[in-house]
Amino acid sequence: MNSVKLIEALSNAYGAPGFEDDVVKVVKEYKGDLSMEVDTLMNTYLRMDQSDKPFTVMLDSHMDEVGFMTQYIDDKGLIHFIPLGGWIAHNIPAHLVMIKNCDGEYIEGVVSSKPPHFMSEAERNAPLTIDNLTIDVGASSYDEVINDFKIIPGCPIVPAVTFKYNEKNKVMRGKCFDNRLGCAAIIQTLNALKNEDLAVNVVGALAVQEEVGTRGAVVTARTIKPDLAIVFEGTPADDSFSSEYMAQSVLGKGPQVRHRDNSYIGHHRFIKFARDIATKNNIPFQDAVRKAGGTNAGSIHLSNEGIPVLVLGTPSRYIHTHYSYASSVDFENTVKMAAEVIKELTPDIVKELKQPFGEKL
Ligand SMILES: [Zn+2]
Repeated sequence: MNSVKLIEALSNAYGAPGFEDDVVKVVKEYKGDLSMEVDTLMNTYLRMDQSDKPFTVMLDSHMDEVGFMTQYIDDKGLIHFIPLGGWIAHNIPAHLVMIKNCDGEYIEGVVSSKPPHFMSEAERNAPLTIDNLTIDVGASSYDEVINDFKIIPGCPIVPAVTFKYNEKNKVMRGKCFDNRLGCAAIIQTLNALKNEDLAVNVVGALAVQEEVGTRGAVVTARTIKPDLAIVFEGTPADDSFSSEYMAQSVLGKGPQVRHRDNSYIGHHRFIKFARDIATKNNIPFQDAVRKAGGTNAGSIHLSNEGIPVLVLGTPSRYIHTHYSYASSVDFENTVKMAAEVIKELTPDIVKELKQPFGEKL
């Protein structure tokens, strides 16, 4: 399957945390002959048709994207909202958004602001907060928003962005590469492995509600009870503002191997194993020690009796805004690295990685 087409469909789907329905539909459309199950929270599981093996590797990503929720509608028909996930106020104004109304229809709106013509000097210089922002759907009253647009408190809101691809430099531009790139990576890794004779079960787990606190992955890890896990992320790129030696998430330099963030410290022997395999297979990768951030690895590595987790990120510029850039070459190398790591797993290696001290690894 063409990865860019898959990423396009996933990126264009709307899925605020808790409202991942449309992403699940895209996964269903593109899953091919993988078997699929959806749990009560909408976590989605993909499996290859394989005989049962003693050890299981879970491939994780999350389907939700940073969005908002309508909170109340005022007398002028302006919609006040709260963030779902990590936004900062100055990335939000003057952008188009989509609000899913009570009938399940998407209503386009503009994040509104007072025109500069009417602003006082104090207003121009005042710090921007999300509380000061509203969404205008072109209505003029509370009644119109409620009765005609069918928008009430509790409706999900997402950025309105259409995916584009530049064939020349292999760079994709779209919304929520965090983490639809991960969802695509699960499907493509399973596709890459389905005709291989593997020593482990491989299960894809596309989790809900990561952006509000890695909630879906608490359930997926408990359901699958993996021996090892690989977390795919659309990871924030730092190449547009960091010096060459400082940057650890550069477009075109391959998947990011994450050693540390605020949610976990990487399993150093699993990381070494994966780095060695990437090197052996000439797959480029970049090491990253994040000062902040977190992924589903935070929930997964603490689940059950403790799980060695590897986090592979495809660098994506400007995540948690409307628009991101990422390289399709990095995406393919992320899938390749995960697939090669899984191909090399034997029961002995899995056992070794699960022991407190490795003899060989
Ligand atoms: Zn995120």
